[in-house]
Amino acid sequence: MLQILDATLREGEQTPGVYFDEHIKLAIAAELNKLGIDIIEAGHPLVSSEIKFAVTQIANNNFKSIVGAHARSLKQDVDLALECGVGLLGIFYCVSNSRLSGVFNKDIGAAIAQITEVIAYAKSQKPDLLVRYTPEDTVRSNFQNVLDASVAAVQAGADIISIADTTGYMIPGTKRSMYAYVKKLKDELAERDAYPKIAVHCHNDRGFALTNAIDGYRAGADIIDATILGMGERAGIVDLAQLLVTLKLDFEVANDWDLSKLNNLYHLVSQNCGIPIPMNFPITGQNAFTHCAGVHTHAAAKDPAHYQSLDPAVVGRKMDISLDHMSGIASIKWALDKLGIIAENDLLERILKKVKSIGQRGRTVGLTELEYIVEWCKKHEIEG
Ligand SMILES: [Zn+2]
Repeated sequence: MLQILDATLREGEQTPGVYFDEHIKLAIAAELNKLGIDIIEAGHPLVSSEIKFAVTQIANNNFKSIVGAHARSLKQDVDLALECGVGLLGIFYCVSNSRLSGVFNKDIGAAIAQITEVIAYAKSQKPDLLVRYTPEDTVRSNFQNVLDASVAAVQAGADIISIADTTGYMIPGTKRSMYAYVKKLKDELAERDAYPKIAVHCHNDRGFALTNAIDGYRAGADIIDATILGMGERAGIVDLAQLLVTLKLDFEVANDWDLSKLNNLYHLVSQNCGIPIPMNFPITGQNAFTHCAGVHTHAAAKDPAHYQSLDPAVVGRKMDISLDHMSGIASIKWALDKLGIIAENDLLERILKKVKSIGQRGRTVGLTELEYIVEWCKKHEIEG
């Protein structure tokens, strides 16, 4: 069964300026658990004692979600993560020749020796610990190095190999295809008798993180990483809500994710990280289910499916109609119906005229304001 790893508390905190208070970290983890997220990456305990404390609190909450921690390929990082009581440890180490020689002054053999030693150490300390090994910048690294390091990691005890598109390098339909990469790595690993779970970690530098993640799934990936609001380094990674909705509704993945929890979770995170949910963001943006133009609202008021491919109720939301310069009589009738107000045609026209004039000044009319507009129009003739 496909699993989703939410990395909001780890990758998300690599968004410049984002830091969640300890109790908010716990709240986010608890809500992710209620939503049914399979794995929660709770943080990198080495970064600070406060993060280590929060990871420990989250790991000891008896969540159904597996709780994981991030670690460099060093025993001291492994020890810290184990002290937190996590069920999954994510170890990363680069395998690109240029970085190994230019940054670490090592060859691939020495790198693999370090990676395998740390994985074997982690497994010896806690045999039921799930270990994920990520060859950093996987898709731009020498493929043979990735393969050799992955096989060695699996032989040392790694359960998961994560394919990291660290720079958002993959572009669907080109030679840089995540679909082809996942297939190739799985096949080559199988030829060497290695059958780890495959994870994909897709950055969004070119706007293809979600598409690449779906491509990874289609090619047989077992775990997909995402964050709330797609937060993360630079342009971030895959947006959790968009990923879950597509997998559950369109690919019919039979997981127990409760999509109705997404809306509140996004608001909790947005309020506590200072990043507004973009108005036009799919699924969770304020305008995602709001119809504006008169032609649209006329049809949507009869049947929302005319202009919606997703029922907002599935994600705990409702259809809305924007009252502004684009409105028509159908929009006004729809809104008045919500208020329980019945108006004759002449009054409707005057209300519409007033709403349009307000819309031309660059704002929309809410239901409370509309009530007063109705009263106003009953008393005054509106100049055209
Ligand atoms: Zn990342």
